[in-house]
Amino acid sequence: MIDGHTRTCGLIGNPVEHTMSPVIHNSLAEKLSHNLVYVPFKVEEGQILSAVEGAAALNLLGLNVTVPYKSQVMEGLVQVDELAKKIGAVNTLVRTEGGFKGYNTDMPGLYRAMRSEGIELEGEEAVLLGAGGAARAVAFLCADRGASKVYMLNRSLEKAREVAGEVNQKTGRECIYPMALSDYRELPDRKFLAIQATSVGLYPDVDRSVIEDRDFYRKIHTGYDLIYKPSTTRFMKLVKDNGGQAFHGLKMLLYQGIIAYELWNGVSVSEEMALEVYEILKEKMGIKE
Ligand code: NAP
Repeated sequence: MIDGHTRTCGLIGNPVEHTMSPVIHNSLAEKLSHNLVYVPFKVEEGQILSAVEGAAALNLLGLNVTVPYKSQVMEGLVQVDELAKKIGAVNTLVRTEGGFKGYNTDMPGLYRAMRSEGIELEGEEAVLLGAGGAARAVAFLCADRGASKVYMLNRSLEKAREVAGEVNQKTGRECIYPMALSDYRELPDRKFLAIQATSVGLYPDVDRSVIEDRDFYRKIHTGYDLIYKPSTTRFMKLVKDNGGQAFHGLKMLLYQGIIAYELWNGVSVSEEMALEVYEILKEKMGIKE
């Protein structure tokens, strides 16, 4: 029941209409009997800093931040957590003295998601497809969690070089190797974990994968696609058709939300409850497997 004590959290971004985050947070609030509601706020271009200021004035408990504001929002915060600073992107704002403190829960969210699927990063040789905002966080995660080598393949080689250089420098490890996407045939002849972090294959563009060549997929033992709509992407299908195991990104979405919820409310969400919320998410999205 919404009453005079109800606290508000929400999502700021543009667009926000497609978001599944209200399902995660409102389900958690219900299960934990917290008097909290989570709603989407569409923020027009040029308004992000006033939105953050307004949210502080309205005493909102916390916010998630999505495309295109994950970097821009940092300017409006009173504090930014070290990990988020290193990654250069904030997706969670937590109420603090005088405003909000920014965190990045995408990277630990992906880590928790991978762990729950039994995927290890330590000592792994990985292929990372993409060099955009999400791929940057993945590159940090791989470097941070001890991957031995990560081949970062991107359509624009320049961007891959830039991101790889920055991650290597900030983590003090020379583990990210930038490559042009078109040079994928030059990958060593061995089996890799592949993380798909481009936007190719995202609904409604479901019939495409960033690489179509089956020879590439024969080198993949595990494919992790950050995309979760559709729940079986063409990339995942190609990995499976060539003998690998494949996962979609819905658990990453789940855990980045759970970590944000934990930060806002000072609680720890059990794995059992996380999986219950995951079932609700899957049901809402019509995902059976
Ligand atoms: P972004 O910053 O716009 O980056 C897009 C990436 O895709 C770039 O590397 C870009 O290459 C590449 N790309 C786009 N069109 C391409 C094409 N036609 N051929 C080859 N490469 C192409 O996007 P982002 O924020 O990193 O998001 C990437 C994906 O991750 C999205 O699908 C998003 O839905 C997903 N994601 C999922 C979660 C989750 O919780 N599961 C969280 C964040 C993101 P160039 O650099 O050459 O342009």
